[in-house]
Amino acid sequence: MSTRGKVPAIGIDLGTTYSCVAVWQHNRVEIIANDQGNRITPSYVAFNDTERLVGDAAKNQAAFNPTNTVFDVKRLIGRKASDKIVQEDMKLWPFKVVAGSGDKPKIVVTYKNENKEFAAEEISSMVLAKMKGIAETFLGTSVEKAVITVPAYFSDSQRQSTKDAATVAGLEVLRMIHEPTAAAIAYALDKRAGVDGKMNVLVFDLGGGTFDVSILTIDNKGIIEVKATGGDTHLGGEDFDNRMVSYFVREFKRKHRADISNNLKALGRLRVHCERAKRIISTTFQTNIDIDCLFNGIDFSAKFTRAKFEEINMELFKKCIDTVESCLRDVSMSKDIINEVILVGGSTRIPKIQELLQELFDGKPLCQRINPDEAVAYGAGVLAANISGVGGEDVQALALIDVTPLSLGVGCHNDVMAVLIPKNAPIPTKKESTHYTICDNQTSMDLWVYQGERAKSSENYLLSKFCLSGIPPAPRGVVKAIVCFEIDANGILHVSAREITSGRNNSIKITNNGSLTKSEIEKMIKDAERYKLEDELHMKKVKGHQALSDYIYKVRDKVKVYNFRMKLRRRGLSVKDLEDIDHQVEEAIKWLDEHPDAAIADLKDKEAELDDLCRLINLKLSKRN
Ligand code: AMP
Repeated sequence: MSTRGKVPAIGIDLGTTYSCVAVWQHNRVEIIANDQGNRITPSYVAFNDTERLVGDAAKNQAAFNPTNTVFDVKRLIGRKASDKIVQEDMKLWPFKVVAGSGDKPKIVVTYKNENKEFAAEEISSMVLAKMKGIAETFLGTSVEKAVITVPAYFSDSQRQSTKDAATVAGLEVLRMIHEPTAAAIAYALDKRAGVDGKMNVLVFDLGGGTFDVSILTIDNKGIIEVKATGGDTHLGGEDFDNRMVSYFVREFKRKHRADISNNLKALGRLRVHCERAKRIISTTFQTNIDIDCLFNGIDFSAKFTRAKFEEINMELFKKCIDTVESCLRDVSMSKDIINEVILVGGSTRIPKIQELLQELFDGKPLCQRINPDEAVAYGAGVLAANISGVGGEDVQALALIDVTPLSLGVGCHNDVMAVLIPKNAPIPTKKESTHYTICDNQTSMDLWVYQGERAKSSENYLLSKFCLSGIPPAPRGVVKAIVCFEIDANGILHVSAREITSGRNNSIKITNNGSLTKSEIEKMIKDAERYKLEDELHMKKVKGHQALSDYIYKVRDKVKVYNFRMKLRRRGLSVKDLEDIDHQVEEAIKWLDEHPDAAIADLKDKEAELDDLCRLINLKLSKRN
């Protein structure tokens, strides 16, 4: 099947540290390079006095503008500001996060000399819009539909918020798919020809901010079935970097008796150097960190070894391996029936991680055939083609059976969690349960929806609470309500409840679990359009400024050439004429330097003045001729 005539749908891996976009084209997946020629784009957004930057441009200026450079937003999305994890992260982020209404975290930055607050969804939407733009430039057409990947272990509100971010970015989500499942698609498409019957694969996906493990079966007909999934939505390369930063803050204190922990700029610069050193020691055994004037004019220089890196992060590495073991236990699989262990995510390049994983699988070679940075976007691109009906036979044959990562249930009295949909249940799915009144003449029923594996509901994550009212008075235990949980193919939960005893169908439906309201999304869409227009206007101004600057210097160069001046003089321009020209050109240069942010209209006026000048020269010359 060809893609001709169809508006292409794209696949986006929206990562904590990097994002990647792919599209099916010319019978294969194309990983699309950004305007800098890079196939992965930093999930960074920065604000300054004049403009908003997204991607490489934002990351490149992070050390100089730390408080207005936002990253790691995937660690905020769908969480509450008071969440312990968010509070811990806030101590290390150079940008400010405050609690907004409903305990929603808001990122505070200074943009065009004004304080602005952004929800995590808004920042994510800016990254998604950037990825959409990269695809549109490449394809030469607008793109509206996308498959977006999320960590398998994302909670319901994290998924819902990611979907909201896509809506704000102007993207219709064809499907949200788990990152390790997307990687398995990439693997399966590559491998299927050689698969004899079914094979069991384990995807170990350790990226910048999240960790997922999935155990799947892949058969030679293209059916990919997830059996179990486990992970941690707050474990990845950023945590390894954080531990390095903390280590060097202590080192700095020890060596120089100065505490840099409250200096955001110093911490930001240290973090950049730590991440770089971390990558280097994946291939060498030691490196140096040298930072000029890190704090109070003090230069910082230190040796860093792979052994030290492993020592300070071993606890986190072990956590990853424990998760693999518990995932195998969940699915009652012994490790020797896993045919292939697939590595995905930039942090799987860490030698100790590979060593521990290989040890767990008794020395079995790990599969590194697929690109760990691109596999997730690749799989999303394939699924986008599959859903939109393009691609070859093998793409169209693809069928996915995924699972829900966490149990979902209702909180009952005595703080007991009544599970309706257990962890690792295939999705989409629908389950119902019956609940009775617990008091005489009870006229309403409070229902609390939880996600998690603890027996006590209060120890799980509260997704939403709602009240079923209008219940007819009756002795306790007589009136009953049916609660229905439905998980769609995107892994998003929809809850409804209806009281049935009286025959009245008194029902309530909850789909939006405490994330953005419709009007908030609409406002953000409008803001996003405004920011896009502002960015375009800014780029127009920058280009106009550049063009005028080129023009002025061209005129000046011409006039300044000695022979030319002599020629002009001989051709009738007086010394005064020449001085006037010099003066006007110098004035124009000065004006340009003093007005870096000049409006387009002013730039045009200046250009017109220079045009007049050039016309004057030409006129005098033509008269002479
Ligand atoms: P991802 O989310 O898959 O793009 O992974 C990004 C994470 O991988 C970041 O934390 C990077 O610092 C980390 N990473 C990339 N390359 C390496 C490497 N060679 N060694 C260690 N970590 C790496």
